[in-house]
This record gives sequence, structure tokens and C-alpha cells, in this order.
Amino acid sequence: MANYAGVVVELTAKKINRSFDYTIPIRLKEQIQIGSHVLIPFGPRKIEGFVVELKEKSDFPQTKEILRLLHDYPLFDEKMLEVIRWISEYYQSVLIKVIKTAIPTGIVGNKVQVKTRRVIRVQVFSKEEGEKKVVELKKRAPKQSEVLEFLLRYPKLEMTATELATRLKTTYSTIKGLKDKGLIIYDEVAVQRNPYDDNNFSPSKPLRPNFYQHQAISQINEEIEKREEITILLKGVTGSGKTEVYLQVIAKALTIGKDAIVLVPEIALTPQTVDRFKSRFGANVAVLHSQLSLGERFDEWRRIYKGEVKIVVGARSAIFAPFQNLGLIIIDEEHETSYKQSDQVKYHARDVAIKRAKLMGAVTILGTATPAVESFYRASIGDYKLIELPERVNLNPLPPIKIVDMRQELKKGNRTIFSRPLDQAIQKRLTEKSQVILFLNRRGFSNFVLCRECGYVVRCENCDVSLTYHANTNKLQCHYCDYIEDPPKNCSKCGSNLIKYFGIGTQQVETFTKERYPNARVARMDVDTTRRKGSHEQILTAFREKKIDILIGTQMLSKGHDFPDVTLVGVIIADTALHFPDFRSGERTFQLLTQVAGRTGRGKEQGEVIIQTYSPEHYSIKAAKTHDFDLFFHEEIGYRKEILQPPFSHLINIVIQDEKEERVIEEAHLLANLFQSRIYDEIPIEILGPAPAPLSKVRGKHRWQMILKSKDGELLRQISRELMTKYYSEQKSTVIVTVDVDPLGML
Ligand code: ADP
Ligand code: ZN
Ligand code: ZN
Repeated sequence: MANYAGVVVELTAKKINRSFDYTIPIRLKEQIQIGSHVLIPFGPRKIEGFVVELKEKSDFPQTKEILRLLHDYPLFDEKMLEVIRWISEYYQSVLIKVIKTAIPTGIVGNKVQVKTRRVIRVQVFSKEEGEKKVVELKKRAPKQSEVLEFLLRYPKLEMTATELATRLKTTYSTIKGLKDKGLIIYDEVAVQRNPYDDNNFSPSKPLRPNFYQHQAISQINEEIEKREEITILLKGVTGSGKTEVYLQVIAKALTIGKDAIVLVPEIALTPQTVDRFKSRFGANVAVLHSQLSLGERFDEWRRIYKGEVKIVVGARSAIFAPFQNLGLIIIDEEHETSYKQSDQVKYHARDVAIKRAKLMGAVTILGTATPAVESFYRASIGDYKLIELPERVNLNPLPPIKIVDMRQELKKGNRTIFSRPLDQAIQKRLTEKSQVILFLNRRGFSNFVLCRECGYVVRCENCDVSLTYHANTNKLQCHYCDYIEDPPKNCSKCGSNLIKYFGIGTQQVETFTKERYPNARVARMDVDTTRRKGSHEQILTAFREKKIDILIGTQMLSKGHDFPDVTLVGVIIADTALHFPDFRSGERTFQLLTQVAGRTGRGKEQGEVIIQTYSPEHYSIKAAKTHDFDLFFHEEIGYRKEILQPPFSHLINIVIQDEKEERVIEEAHLLANLFQSRIYDEIPIEILGPAPAPLSKVRGKHRWQMILKSKDGELLRQISRELMTKYYSEQKSTVIVTVDVDPLGML
């Protein structure tokens, strides 16, 4: 048995990755394991730590003793530790941060506890003895007698004193009387906080798969039976029945004793989605996402830990669900950028899934209608197995897409946001009483305020971005830091009153829509209308119940919702994402348009999509018109190869931030020198920058960046790790330096 434990602790401000040796006291020998959460003396303080190593001997002559075990069970096992170590190394994050990411929030700092209730039990005695007591009490204390009789008759009912008193119409003192006589005891029992308890799930049976679903299911089942690691890219058009495939292969995994994780983008994790899994698998499903309270999440995690459930449906961090027999990981909408965590540990759930699958011999399914360029590339070179669902279940063809060139509309004198084809199509739906979705990927009313005299644009005080006008509050608002100010009457630079609002947002679309179609019931769904808990679901329910004719929304609307009566989707401007300074802007645009188009024609009626754009010739828009992923991919992969961007290279983005610009510039150059002195001609790493980041100031912090690029990802990460370790160990400046491995956005 081990005498020493290697413990990792949080050292504020220091990016130290080592563990510290502690003696395991005899009384804790049986209990301390890998993953144990312990209290240890550290200098003059007592702090929390996690055991990551057990050993016979320590190299240190003097080690202190572990003081206490903070949880009576380990929070991760050796396999999970391997995943944690891998993340720490690959993404260059300190181990303790990765551990905190992988375990339930609130464990550290003891912010979550098992919820208990104090129930009443009869003091153990035989049936005859009990009945004798009941009779004895009858004369002097009839109420006490009644309570005791009740408890004897229903020994399994776990009721609190209050519940019991209410149920038997008596008082607390009656119960206390029984307690004083030693006839009953109080007992603490754990209760399960289950946020979905009161929902009613009507049971669902497997649907008869169509030809393509059948093929997909049998191929995946074959892989599940092999119990070997493999990644499958399930490319299925929207409405092709991917979820039914998931449900049936999960059932397969369960029959061979395996557990399954299903990841869904946070905003698609609606009650509707949860319902589909719960109604098939009932209480066998745990749900993990950030809308749950810490306590609820902790309880769901414990249900998984204890093996009480076999399936978890959750957002990104559910990839760490503590299953022992993981056999299947499903990542729905795998192209979604929200699978990459953007703060703290910058891991991508897809890559963590594949790593976990390797260790567990599990099957990973990446499901999507629009694969990430990197994923499809990997399928095309044989790293992933490709399975396709090319048809919609209802056999409706994908909706026809009309592209409207807004430059032509302008030429013909139409200055409104509704082109004539879109206008006619909306009118038609309103008379037919079917529903319309209008999509615009920008909230607010107008996205910048400009002085026509001198060209001055009103910007945020804290961020290098223009302020957005919000009509309902009559304020200018920053979408990065929520800074708010009143709209100017005069230009603050030249004093002119020729202030004009440019660019449209969802609020303005709402206003124009109401003006143009006064009889239509119009609603809007974006960050601003869904701040309150539950409001998101309220809008969707109203729309589903046909209390809304036209729903206007951002990206939020594009995912996972099934609205059978929507027969028209209009994209107000397709170009908003196209001109982002990011090599993935074409990919984002194609994905977005395809997802949005998928929202129509899901019922019996044929749907129609109208996309308004100023760039009809762009291949992302052309490919979206014909629902042609292959065409898009062909163009995009050629472009990526030409400019040597992923998947033909690997990137690391190093961002330097501080309130003081000089300090940022100084530190950026210091870092650049460090890299330049290590990277000679024969080392195939390119250093881009340092330069101001495209978003050069956010929340009062100036930002510079340096991008490292190489064909050799392994070498790139190794050198970056080596130099950053050196940098951190010598760092004097207090500027914040963050490393993003495989960045998805570089603003
Ligand atoms: P996707 O996730 O590929 O967009 P869904 O799984 O949401 O598609 O399926 C679209 C609709 O088709 C759902 O309403 C689903 O219940 C239904 N469906 C799926 N498979 C079948 C089937 N084999 N038979 C009948 N209906 C099906
Ligand atoms: Zn001006
Ligand atoms: Zn701001």
C-alpha cells in the first residue's frame, strides 16, 4: 500500500504543473486513491488538492501529512486522469485547472453538498413489541399512539416530522414526545435533486428505420460490438433522422453493457431535445448543462458516478461524465464552435472525445449536416469512417433556395430590407396561414452610429468596437462588455447634428416587419429577448402552437428545432459572417445558411428559402443554394491548401492583454524574441506577428497576438510548450498571456 501521495494544488498566479508529496496517515491508507480530494497543509495555510500519484517512497526527506479526506470517494479514476493529463499537455493548461474542468463545478471550495432530509424511523423492535407500545400509549397519549401505529404500518415511507404531522393532523410536539421516549429516531437520507422529475415523458418505441437509417444503424452497431476505438462521421441532411439513429445505436450499446454520452450544443439542449432521449430511455438518462443549479448538476453527476444511469445528454463538459464502461460517444452538430471552450482550459470536446474513446475502446459518432472542414477532410483521408443519410425522412426534397441579389434590388429602386421576391413570399404565407422564419445574424437595431459630416463612429469606451443602437431602450450598447450610453444628438468630435444609424439588426427587422405586415403576429428571438430563464422556451412554444406568424431571430433559431408548419425561411442578409477577418468565414456562412434552410419543409408541406445577399457569386452562397456540401468542400479545401491553413497546418494563438498598451507591446515583443531565437530556418514554424489583435481592445484591455503556424503540429506544440514554460518561469510582467492551441476564432 502506498505511503505517499502526489497532490496537485492551486497556486494562485503561478503556472506550475508539478505535484507535491504528502505522507498518507495510517487512518487514511484504505481510502486515499487516485482522484481523492484532500486537505493538506501548505506553508502556513491549509488548502485543497487532488491526488494524482501514489507511491512507496518519496524523494523528499520531509513530507507533511494529509490532514483530511474532503470527499469519501475519488473524483476521477486513472483513465480519466490520463485524459486530464493529455488535455493539460496538448492545450498547455495547468493540471489543476484541467481537473477543475473535468469534475463538477462547486466541488472545489465545497460549494455543493449532498442534499439530505431528516426522516423519521421507528426505533427497531419486533412487530409484537411495537404493537404492545401502541396499545400502551393509547390511553395517555392517543396521538402518539396513532403516529407510531402509522409508522409501523408503513415502514418504507420516509417522512420528515413536518410531513408526518401534516399527514396525521397532529403537532410537532407529538412527534417529539415519541422521540423523547426513545420510540423513534431521526435519520439523514440523501435526496436526489432531479430537475426533470415532474416532467411527464410519454414512452416512445423505436421507429422503423428507413433504408439509409437501417444501413447506418447496422454499420454502427457492428463497430460497437467490436469494442474498439473508431470515429464515424455521420453526415445526414437536416431532417434525415440522425436522432433516431443515435437512439437505436445507444440501445445497442446498452445491450452489451456499455454507457453512452450524447453531446448537444448548449442552445439546442432544450426540453424538447431532452424529451426525445428520456421518452426512449426513461430514468436511465442524466442531463448535464449550465442552466441547472450547481446542486442539480452535482446530483446528476453522482447518478452517473454510481452507475445509476447509462446515458448522459449534455453540453460540452458532459464529455467528462464519469462512466466506467463508456462504449459510445455521440457529438451532435459536431461542427458547432461552442464545443471548443473559449476561456480557462481551451479544449475542444471533439478531440477530448476521441482521446477518451481511444482509452475506453469506444465508438465516437460525429453527426452533422455540414461537417467541419477539418472533420470531412479527415474522413476523406480515411481517419474517420464516413456514413451518409442523403434523404429526408419525410422524403420531401430539401427546400428550393432562391438567391436574391440585393444590389439589383437597389438598382431597381427598392430601398427596403424586403426584396420583392421575399415580400411576395411572406404575403403568400400570411394568406395561407403558414409560418415564416426571418433570420439575421446580428442583434440590436442598427450596428453603428456615424457622423456624416466627419465620419466619426461612436465606439465603446472599453472595447475597440462600434456601439449598437437598441431602439426599445433607446440606448447605445456594446455587445462585448454591455457598456451602455445615450445616443448622441451631436457628433462628439465635430458637433454636427448629421448623425445617422447604419446597418440593421434584428430589432430593426422586427420594426420593419410589423410596419409592413400590420396584421401579422411578429416575435423576435435573440440574446436580448431571452435573457430571462425560460423565455427562450416560451417563445419557441408560442411559435410551435402557431401563436406567432413570423419569428425573427439570430443564430439561436438555426438549431435543432422542429417546426412542421414553417414553409418559408428568409435570410435578410447572408453576408454578415462572410466578411469577418477569419479564414473560416466561408465555412461559417455555408454552415449557417444550410442550418437555417433546414428549418423549413420539415412537415408535410414543401418549404422555400430565400437568401438575400450582396455577394451572390461567393461559393459558400452558391453551394448553399444547391445544398451542395461537396461543392463547398471542394472549393474550400482548395483555398485552405493554397493559403496553408488548417487542415494543412496547425495553429497556436498567443494573446497578450493588459490595461496599459505599452506593457502589452513590450511583452509581445519579448515573447516574439524568445520564439525567434529558438526557431531557426530549418524548424518549420512560422511566426505571424506580434500585432494588435483584430479586436484590439476588449473590456478595457488592450490585446496583441502572435500566431504560430506549422505543418508539424507535434513539433509546434512541443516548442510552444518548452518556450512558454521558460517564459512563465521568468515572467516579471503582470500582463495576461494566454495560449490557444487549435484556435477556432482569432479575433
Ligand atoms: P435530423 O436530426 O437528421 O435533423 P431528426 O432526427 O430530427 O432529423 O428527424 C426528423 C423527423 O423525422 C423527426 O420528427 C423524427 O421523429 C422523424 N423520423 C426519424 N426517423 C423516422 C423513421 N424511421 N420513421 C418515421 N419518422 C422518423
Ligand atoms: Zn462629426
Ligand atoms: Zn465594450
